[in-house]
Amino acid sequence: MAKSHGSCLFKEVTYTSTGDPVMQALCHCLPCRKVSGGTHTTNLLVPLTAFSLKSYALPHPGGMTLTIYFCENCGTKIYKEGSADAFKGIAIVQASTLDGRIGEKVEGMGIEDVKIGGELYVKDRVGWLQGRDGTGQMREFV
Ligand SMILES: [Zn+2]
Ligand SMILES: [Zn+2]
Repeated sequence: MAKSHGSCLFKEVTYTSTGDPVMQALCHCLPCRKVSGGTHTTNLLVPLTAFSLKSYALPHPGGMTLTIYFCENCGTKIYKEGSADAFKGIAIVQASTLDGRIGEKVEGMGIEDVKIGGELYVKDRVGWLQGRDGTGQMREFV
């Protein structure tokens, strides 16, 4: 995979990802709804590399600790970490921070390039949002 670049709202925080995503998924869990301010998060799970960002941690309803890393200046959430074994060594990058753009010369992935492989926590998906056909529909993380 080519390098992908991402940033916060004001490009105060930038990052480069070189790892192929091990999973690309929507998550509808309640913390993701609060974190995004919307109905869900769009997540790229990539090998964890060194970020130096402010963070806070909270208990996730699934039983793990969820740590959220954000730009301390503008508050943009860049990625999450989950303490469950399934997320060890993984950065759950918020795909809307990707800067690749179709038709523009920004190297790497953008939000339009995400290939959703599954939806997590569909039990919490808002009623007026349809599930995606042909993708895994997981009630919680499994
Ligand atoms: Zn979630
Ligand atoms: Zn920022």
